[in-house]
Amino acid sequence: MKTSIATVSLSGELPEKLEAIARAGFDGVEIFENDFLAFDGSPRDVGKMARDLGLAITLFQPFRDFEGMPDTLRSRTFDRAERKFDVMQELGTDMVLICSNVSAAALGGIDRAAADFRELGERAARRGLKVGYEALAWGRFINDHRDAWEIVRRADHPNVGLILDSFHTLSRKIDVNSIRSIPKDKIFIVQLADAPQIDMDLLYWSRHFRNMPGEGDLPVTAFCEAVAATGYDGYFSLEIFNDQFRGGSARAIAADGHRSLIYLADQVRQTVETPVGVAMPKRAPVKGVGFVEFTTDGSEATELTAFLGVLGFRKVGTHRTKQVSLYQQGDVRIVLNLDKSGFANAAFAMHGTFAYALALVVDDAADAYARALALDAEPFEQSVAEGELQFPAIRGVGGGLIYLIDEKTPLGRFSEIDFVLDPAEDEGQGTGLTRVDHIAQTVAYDQMLTWLLFYTSIFETQKTPMVDIVDPSGVVRSQVIETASGSLRITMNGAENRRTLAGHFLAEKFGSGIQHLAFATDDIFETARRLQDGGFLPLVISPNYYDDVEARFGLDPEMTERMRAANILYDRDEHGEYFQLYSRTFGEGFFFEIVERRGYRGYGAPNAIFRIAALKKQMRPEGMPRTAQG
Ligand code: MG
Ligand code: MG
Repeated sequence: MKTSIATVSLSGELPEKLEAIARAGFDGVEIFENDFLAFDGSPRDVGKMARDLGLAITLFQPFRDFEGMPDTLRSRTFDRAERKFDVMQELGTDMVLICSNVSAAALGGIDRAAADFRELGERAARRGLKVGYEALAWGRFINDHRDAWEIVRRADHPNVGLILDSFHTLSRKIDVNSIRSIPKDKIFIVQLADAPQIDMDLLYWSRHFRNMPGEGDLPVTAFCEAVAATGYDGYFSLEIFNDQFRGGSARAIAADGHRSLIYLADQVRQTVETPVGVAMPKRAPVKGVGFVEFTTDGSEATELTAFLGVLGFRKVGTHRTKQVSLYQQGDVRIVLNLDKSGFANAAFAMHGTFAYALALVVDDAADAYARALALDAEPFEQSVAEGELQFPAIRGVGGGLIYLIDEKTPLGRFSEIDFVLDPAEDEGQGTGLTRVDHIAQTVAYDQMLTWLLFYTSIFETQKTPMVDIVDPSGVVRSQVIETASGSLRITMNGAENRRTLAGHFLAEKFGSGIQHLAFATDDIFETARRLQDGGFLPLVISPNYYDDVEARFGLDPEMTERMRAANILYDRDEHGEYFQLYSRTFGEGFFFEIVERRGYRGYGAPNAIFRIAALKKQMRPEGMPRTAQG
């Protein structure tokens, strides 16, 4: 697949944009006129800069209000086009994008438009240039690629072709199958953008809310399947107008864009025989969370160890060569890494106690790793002592790690090979925790789409619609990524405002990471009782909450009383009931959650406001010493 991106998609000055685009691995770039006009160098300088970075200039855009002008304006319009041709030749690109006319002066008429294009095609041909015509969704007379194609067809000139743009076609819900009958050599370039499904004016939606394929809700894959069916093998070029992207990091946005195109090509290849894209293993099915690893040290390590003990975890192994311990309860494994060297130690120096690594159990770790690398994931390697297991690993949220493990490296073997297993002397009965239910990661709001694309492209996961969680100090966006079976559930919270709890966590932790871990139990009341016996201090929920929840759901007062006594929160959806119990926070806002699902599929979003209010009340005032539980 030949990849390209329009400069308008990124923030910064033109040189910075080009550098980011080349670095992300694109083959080409569309030069957006305003980026070019704002730059001090000559067109030749820009052309040289792109070529020196290994980028082809796929086109120059946009040329507006061309076709169907009345005679009084027609010759001036052609003069304007000739001036653009001059610039294009100096830039070193052979194609201009002409978008359908929006001018009030424009006259309709498909043959008039075709005649204009035929003449422009003649003029372009004399200079060895090409003209691509794109239907804007809000064009005055032409707002549908089928009509634009009819004009190109009637223009009947080899230097005139069609430009398809997924946003313009999909935002107007035009049948993508109409693309399949267009000859591939008449499709000059294909522009791609996705967008969240929002009901608003097309122009405003397009100019501010486009995002990368796979980040939004439009059927961009179906659009590309139709394009691929024509045999098209030219550039797929991102054209993303998004306020957040234009305010973000050019490198990060370019990297997301490149990943989105690789992922898109991979999806298209599943259904269409096409030269587009490269073969890679399928999205990795995730069977569960193998372990969660914390980096910690000193007094915080003592506190965290005590905290795990109260939660009913038992130390089951000590690492053969490193200062690392393995704790387990049910199918939940927690690794505490106190090693003084290596990545964990560096992460501790940066973030303090931190759940910095996650092991995901996949079908085939080598396949999952190969796919992750094909999708631009950053590999991670660290030397291990001879005989120890080396899991393939990639960098995840906040620079943390994701280990990929499979049945060939079963956890039993991992424990035996890397750990001296402790005799089961202090085998307590535990508190009934069975598995990791979900992992809550907090990221800066402008990184949410990055990680959404990361998880959904590499792993066989799906997203649910983003919801807003009201923190008393502002709104936090929450995005769920999960497998169909629930074997992996991630809730990602995006904070813009540091006064929100999520924002505070980001600021104090110097970056994104796991903010809470939720464990499942089959009987939350029994778990709560055992926790209490062990000295667990729950997050105290306001008594007013229980009056409300009892009335709202028509609960049995006796059950409400038991929930109140144990500080258990309640929610219900069409599938069943949900019970939640929170610990107090550890360090700078990390906490544990315990949940019981009776068929329920959500994450208790309606309770988040009560949980956040309670956490804020409990969190230490500035300057007070930390304690493990409150
Ligand atoms: Mg376009
Ligand atoms: Mg939760």
